[in-house]
Amino acid sequence: MKLILGNGKTAQSIARFLDKKNTPFTLFEDTRKIKDPSVLQGIDEIFISPGIPQTQPIVIWARAQNISITSDIELFSRHAQAPIIGITGSNGKSTVTQLLGEMIANDNKKVAIGGNIGKPALDCLSPNVEFYVLELSSYQLDYTQNLNLFAGVVLNITPDHLDRYPSFEHYVNAKLSLYQHCQTKVINSDEALVSQDPSAKHFGIDMPKQPVDFGTVTCHGSCYFLKGDDMLMAVNEMQLIGEHNVTNILAALSLGDQIGLDMTSMIACIKTFKGLEHRLEWVAQKQNIDYYNDSKATNAISTIKAIKALTNKYKTITLILGGTPKDENYSKLFTLINKHITSVILIGQSTNTFKNHLKTTQITQANSMQTAIKLASNTNCEAVLLSPACASFDMFDNFEHRGRVFKEEIKTKY
Ligand code: ADP
Repeated sequence: MKLILGNGKTAQSIARFLDKKNTPFTLFEDTRKIKDPSVLQGIDEIFISPGIPQTQPIVIWARAQNISITSDIELFSRHAQAPIIGITGSNGKSTVTQLLGEMIANDNKKVAIGGNIGKPALDCLSPNVEFYVLELSSYQLDYTQNLNLFAGVVLNITPDHLDRYPSFEHYVNAKLSLYQHCQTKVINSDEALVSQDPSAKHFGIDMPKQPVDFGTVTCHGSCYFLKGDDMLMAVNEMQLIGEHNVTNILAALSLGDQIGLDMTSMIACIKTFKGLEHRLEWVAQKQNIDYYNDSKATNAISTIKAIKALTNKYKTITLILGGTPKDENYSKLFTLINKHITSVILIGQSTNTFKNHLKTTQITQANSMQTAIKLASNTNCEAVLLSPACASFDMFDNFEHRGRVFKEEIKTKY
């Protein structure tokens, strides 16, 4: 008998899949309510939702009894009939997954994208699909022993989710485990935590500095994407902004090239790709102020990237910052804010701690997003950036909700 653990859409996708295969199973929605290992009697395999920590008693009991614990991703991989491309990393996963998916579709191939980006992997299974692109979280990888990836990338590794791992090293190893499953590894040469591998494909910013397959070069003041010695397009022809997005595009190009996509078609796709909602998304210009929604920035590094991207474009930026803080070191972010940001509006639970670290800027506090926007719109700035560097759960259902409230307010009231 199989056992499914979890109550979210992943658990439901596993239940639907096993039903279709006429495989009998039991489902426990709330694993914290299981007080007795006897529930494992007669169970030969557990399919687990990635949200359930490995420290829960049911996981520990199952491991002690040698009952296999498997993710939906592993189950998916057993049944997928087309090459799978896996994308993980601390930031940029969804952007690269979506861009690669659009590149494959633009080359007239049937693609399904899923995993952590939204649609559970098992719901993507179809005999017509020619390529699967999966966004993979470290939690999904933790419960995955066997996965057959045609190619895969670990985009970057910075502290995140440290509440779930005993140490940063454990989190790093969880991310790096993706490479155990790859036929071809695609490596970001700018990420020091990933070791170079002669059998892998490499990408990185500033190609003359390092031998990579895909990179960039600056020539007569303009920056270009390169494959080997071939110039592909100017970096300023992309719609996305920021150096982090140059890295994301290099990752998508490397993966796309690896699966044999047509270069002209990939370049055309990069030139029109506008990015995903809530990721450094331009919302509107009101009274000469540009508003950006970067609600997906739930950790320090993503807000650092957003500030760096916008300081190239604007002299004065007002930042809306804060929420449920992550268990990470924010000092680099504070240094950057103190140097480049003229005004900060603090929201959420992190207000008091953040306030103590912000020295040189004009700081105000707001109890709601509506007030934060009102205050921000009255500051003397060229751009207002919502990039909270925190989770949203103190004030909102999730980051999407936070971003929508921000956008609606600006669009309707200003
Ligand atoms: P993920 O799926 O890994 O959370 P997203 O593409 O949804 O990544 O982006 C999440 C946040 O991180 C956004 O604020 C985005 O602007 C920022 N971001 C995107 N790519 C990168 C990158 N390569 N490095 C750092 N931050 C990034």
